[in-house]
Amino acid sequence: MLAVRKLRPATGISIEEVPPPSAPPPGDVTIQVHAAGICGSDLHVYQWGTSYDFMRSRLPLTLGHEFSGKVVATGEGVTNIAIGDRVAVMPAGSCLRCSNCLGGDVHLCTDKKTLGLTRDGAFSRFVNAPALDCIKLAPGTDLTLAALLEPLSVGDNAAAVGGVTSGDTVVVLGPGTIGQAIVRAARWRGATRVIAVGMNDKPRLETALALGATDVIDLASESSLKDGIRALTGSTTADVVIEATGHETSISDGLSILRKGGVLVSAGIHARPASFDLTSFVRNQQQLRAAHGSRRKSWEIIARHIATDPASVRAMVSMEMSLRDAEEGFRRCFERNVSKVVLRPE
Ligand SMILES: [Zn+2]
Ligand SMILES: [Zn+2]
Repeated sequence: MLAVRKLRPATGISIEEVPPPSAPPPGDVTIQVHAAGICGSDLHVYQWGTSYDFMRSRLPLTLGHEFSGKVVATGEGVTNIAIGDRVAVMPAGSCLRCSNCLGGDVHLCTDKKTLGLTRDGAFSRFVNAPALDCIKLAPGTDLTLAALLEPLSVGDNAAAVGGVTSGDTVVVLGPGTIGQAIVRAARWRGATRVIAVGMNDKPRLETALALGATDVIDLASESSLKDGIRALTGSTTADVVIEATGHETSISDGLSILRKGGVLVSAGIHARPASFDLTSFVRNQQQLRAAHGSRRKSWEIIARHIATDPASVRAMVSMEMSLRDAEEGFRRCFERNVSKVVLRPE
């Protein structure tokens, strides 16, 4: 079968024939992949840098961790999933043995194995995955949209960490795929006003609007974030600010538009340390929290939304293409004006 692989710790990917996976070992299932999205982390892996050095000892392997498909075989002891089930898969499998797992915080597992990063992933016709990490989809769920479950669940987790609730005004800094997912999730959680913010980001802000943002701000045509928010809302404060930019200034910018007692969630991956005014942070009793990855609860919430409200996420899929054309798919993603490129095995 054709697979998109990372062969060695250097720039690039390889599209090549590999044998299909072996019969699923105990606890695993074999999934026939329907669709698999290219993620921002796949782009980092393509370019190769020190932040993905943990993959070095696992190479070569098949990439792809945002996917959906149909179960075609089950290993010994699998009872929650049956052949024929349509599923999406939580790619980061918890060990169920470390102290965090045993304490019930499986999302804080210290020994995760991630499909497409530390074991063979879904950029191929078949993939083996742990049955316990499968999310069974409701009948009729659009399998291409189900490949969006991973980023949308990351978005829902960030909104949950921020405590987004009915009637909130939420500002989302960064209109990339995760920012877009946060916009959609915040609306589903009842936020009345969701403002997406970018910088020279027309196409991605348009997608954010299609996904439910009530307003967008392009900082290229504003003197500051604060002025942009004031012009839009008549005030300068939001209930929750969620940052998905990875720019160190997004923390101080975000705090400058956060109400007293409001919550700023940092969900970006930051290359540099941030600095901000701790005195006003303390006096305003603001909260700074971190969100990373997702929990099963978010997957189940989002799976239900995709089944009942598919139209509200369709704009996130910018293009579908054959796995054979993965190089072209990656190239389009690097251009920064597409949202999700979805690969389809033949
Ligand atoms: Zn991803
Ligand atoms: Zn663990």
